Order: sequence, then structure tokens, then C-alpha cells
Amino acid sequence: MEISRRDALAGAAAVAAAPLLAATPARAAAPAADKQAPSFYRYKVGDIQVTVVSDGRFTFPLQDSFITNAKKEEVNAVLENAFLPRDIFTIYFAPLVINTGGKLVVIDTGNGPVARQKVKTNGAFAENMAAAGFDPNAVDMVVISHFHTDHVNGLLSADGTPAFPNAEVLVPATEWKFWMDDGEMSRASGERMTGLFKNNRNIFDAGLKRKVTPYEWGKEVAPGLLAVESVGHTPGHTSYVLSSGSGKVFIQSDVTNNPCLFATHPGWHAFFDQDADVAEKTRRRVYDMLVAEKLQVQGFHYPFPGLGNIEKDGDGYRVVPAPWNPTI
Ligand SMILES: [Zn+2]
Repeated sequence: MEISRRDALAGAAAVAAAPLLAATPARAAAPAADKQAPSFYRYKVGDIQVTVVSDGRFTFPLQDSFITNAKKEEVNAVLENAFLPRDIFTIYFAPLVINTGGKLVVIDTGNGPVARQKVKTNGAFAENMAAAGFDPNAVDMVVISHFHTDHVNGLLSADGTPAFPNAEVLVPATEWKFWMDDGEMSRASGERMTGLFKNNRNIFDAGLKRKVTPYEWGKEVAPGLLAVESVGHTPGHTSYVLSSGSGKVFIQSDVTNNPCLFATHPGWHAFFDQDADVAEKTRRRVYDMLVAEKLQVQGFHYPFPGLGNIEKDGDGYRVVPAPWNPTI
């Protein structure tokens, strides 16, 4: 193809005009964005659609007491090995919204609106859920894994009323019995445990007026969602197997926290595991099962979106995150 003399001249004219355009104020630098994209991620398990909805993160100074049987310097060495900063630690939170075709089911609810106002980096479940196109009024069931603040506080709106007004709230029967027992509450010692009892009474007494349905392990709590005992972190801590057709995923809840420390070092006891020895036994049992069955796992405290596979690595385990899929 030949360039005609006329085209060449037109091109030359355009080049000559360019410096004038460059001098106009319309060429100012693009402004930097001030926030991240809404954080939600969808995938399918058979015919069931899962949406992981981020509640945000919490970053805090690493204390010597964070892991009761490891020194801060040992923890720092593992963080450095994972290319993470020393002396601070980040915990992520990721509730789920599951569309079974017949029911819209939420699993755990994040840190809630009070945290959103105070901490700012978490409590984002409600707004990320809205960004994902879900109406809280349309939720049929809310399934709770255990009664820690980052899982139950999103049950209430900022004004203290139920955040999912039309949903049945399902709670592990053993967890319910423990936290609602006045004797257990009176025997609780230390600021943390007494605070947790107080918070649970506020959520379930004042907020939900005890309108909950306790559920047992070994049974389906929602279509395709089997409740599995995984105690230690709390007395009634629960995980789930979600299955549909040939699709299957293990929803671990808090069997480990952020895996960069607790999958790699399953013997490390975080201060928030209520019975640390039982929690460790559960962790090893569950992770050995995930390895043996090549079962995918969804982790509430994994870095977002928290879907991965597990492989054995020495005395511990390695999480291999599932690649981000741009289609559903
Ligand atoms: Zn948690």
C-alpha cells in the first residue's frame, strides 16, 4: 500500500497541530482513585452459586502474646519468609452469600456497622453485599459458624434491629448452649471472655430476641449445606461441606486464621482459640482430610477471595489459592 502525497501532507499537518493540543489544560494528570473496587467474587459449586463478600481487614501490632507457644521473633521470621511486613499482622474477613436456586443463604456476617464506623477497615459486608446486587430483605437464612464478634455482629443494623429482617437465623446448638448459659457467663474470666458473653447477649437477646433455630452437626442446615463439627476455636465451632452434583467445597470457618501463619504452623496456638489443644487437633484432622480428598477449601480469614487447595508441607500445610476466574 502506497501512501499518497495528500495523506502524507495531512499527516504532517496533524503533527504540526499536536504541540498546540499538548499545551491545553485538558491534558492534566488523571486523579488517583481514593478507594478499592467493591470486593466480591463469584464461583459455582455444581448448580449452587457462591459469592464471597469481603468484610474488610484488621491490621494490628504483633504482640508476644498473640501466639501463646511461639516467640514474636519466630512469628516475624515466618512473616518475612511470606514477604509480609514484620511486627504487624493482618486478619481478613469474608462472609459468604450462597444462592442454592431456592434459597438465599448468608454464612457469617462480619464485624458489623459499629466496627465500620470505628475501625473503618472492616464491617464492610453490608456495603459490599449491596455492591454485589443483594438485598438483605431477600435473604432467607443466615447460618452462623460460631459466636465471635467478627461472625455475629453483622446480624444487627446500626440501630440495633435485625440486619436480615426476613431471614431465619441458624446457630450451632452447642455454641448456643454455651454462650447463652448463665452459669458459663458467671464463670467467665478475663476481659476478652466476659466481653464476648456481653456482646453475644446484646446480639441475641437485645437484637434478635432469641429468635434463632439451633442446628445439629451431621445434618443439612440449608439445601446442599452440611454442618460439620470442628470445635476447639470455640465449644460449638462449625464448618460446612457445600455440595451440588459433582461440585464440593469445604467451608472451614476458623479452623485456621490467616494461613500464612496457621496453615504453615498448625501447632501454633493463637490466643483466640478457646481450647487450643483441641483446636490444633481439629486443624490437623481437617487439613489432612482436605489433602487426602483434594477438597477445595473456602477460608473466612484467608486473603480475599479465600478459595484454595491444600498441600502437605513438612509438619504443616500450604494453601494454593485458586486462580481468579473472570467468568462464573
Ligand atoms: Zn473469626
